[in-house]
Amino acid sequence: MESVVKTIPSVLILLGPPGAGKGTQARMLEEEFGLVQLSTGDLLRAAVAAGTETGQKAKAVMDAGDLVSDDIVIAILRDRLGEPDCARGVILDGFPRTTVQAEALDDLLAETGQKINAAVSLEVDDAAMVARISGRYTCAGCGEGYHDRFKQPQRTGMCDKCGGADFKRRADDNAETVAQRLQAYHAQTAPLITYYDSKDVLQRIDAMGDIAAIATDLTAMVEKSMT
Ligand code: ADP
Ligand code: ADP
Ligand code: ZN
Repeated sequence: MESVVKTIPSVLILLGPPGAGKGTQARMLEEEFGLVQLSTGDLLRAAVAAGTETGQKAKAVMDAGDLVSDDIVIAILRDRLGEPDCARGVILDGFPRTTVQAEALDDLLAETGQKINAAVSLEVDDAAMVARISGRYTCAGCGEGYHDRFKQPQRTGMCDKCGGADFKRRADDNAETVAQRLQAYHAQTAPLITYYDSKDVLQRIDAMGDIAAIATDLTAMVEKSMT
């Protein structure tokens, strides 16, 4: 395995079902703590849009709501972790999603003698997750996330962050795919809660509240984990 040559000061993991708010919270932590959000979903969507070999392999799997193979995702993650900006510290959003990926991450970090600061499980029930996903959209310019009901731009049709007026919705945010993604989460990703608990890095957050309240809890937790 190719190594990540440098040490990354902080490694935070956000665990949680699709729609739990991982991306929303990761972007806020990124600004607050100067960390880099690393979303394997975003990296895979970029590969699909660019039409790379990886993207071509991943597309049908993502459209069906299944998990992309561990080999592909681990390779993408390893490449991204090796880029210079990750030296500021990273928030892993949507990775790992299987035990094989979690073990690969442990191996990768062990190469440079580092540890995971915290693996935070954002806990929401299935109904909330479906409601969050079904109204989700993002700014095409800067990636800021919005929701039809829960997080509207301050000025209708204009992104709060970049002023852009172009928004997009994900192809996999539809009812059939969501059911499959939820099943994949319960079968393959939820066991990671026990995995990280047994390593004493698990933290749980009640993610049923509003975005700001969750951010407050998460910030306190992250501050503690970084000291
Ligand atoms: P994930 O990255 O876990 O899939 P997102 O951060 O994309 O989730 O959030 C899913 C959708 O729900 C987005 O439209 C987002 O604006 C909205 N959202 C995020 N957190 C909350 C929350 N606490 N309450 C209500 N809606 C939320
Ligand atoms: P969500 O907002 O549902 O959490 P993501 O953007 O993280 O979605 O992921 C979208 C899709 O990309 C997933 O349904 C899956 O097909 C694929 N994917 C993302 N991360 C991983 C991963 N770590 N392992 C396998 N597949 C992944
Ligand atoms: Zn924007």
